[in-house]
Amino acid sequence: MNCKRVNEVLYLFFDNELEDELLAPFRAHTDHCPECARRFDYTRKLLLLVREGCHRRCAPQHLRIRILSSLPHRQSAERLH
Ligand SMILES: [Zn+2]
Repeated sequence: MNCKRVNEVLYLFFDNELEDELLAPFRAHTDHCPECARRFDYTRKLLLLVREGCHRRCAPQHLRIRILSSLPHRQSAERLH
C-alpha cells in the first residue's frame, strides 16, 4: 500500500468500512510512514471532534460542515445516520 492509497481509504478505516484484507497493509504503512502516521493521527482527532458534536471549545458549525463535505466518500453517497 502506498501513501496515495492510504489517503484514499483513511476515512473508510475510521468508519470501520475498510475491507479486512486491507487492514494489515494499511496498518503496516501508517506504522512506518511518518507522513501517513501524522495524517492518520490528525484525521482521528478531527473526526473525534466532529463526532462529539462539540458544544463549546470546538469547531464552529461552518467548519464542521466544511470538514464533513470534504470527506471524499461522503461527497457521492450521503451515509450519515
Ligand atoms: Zn505514507
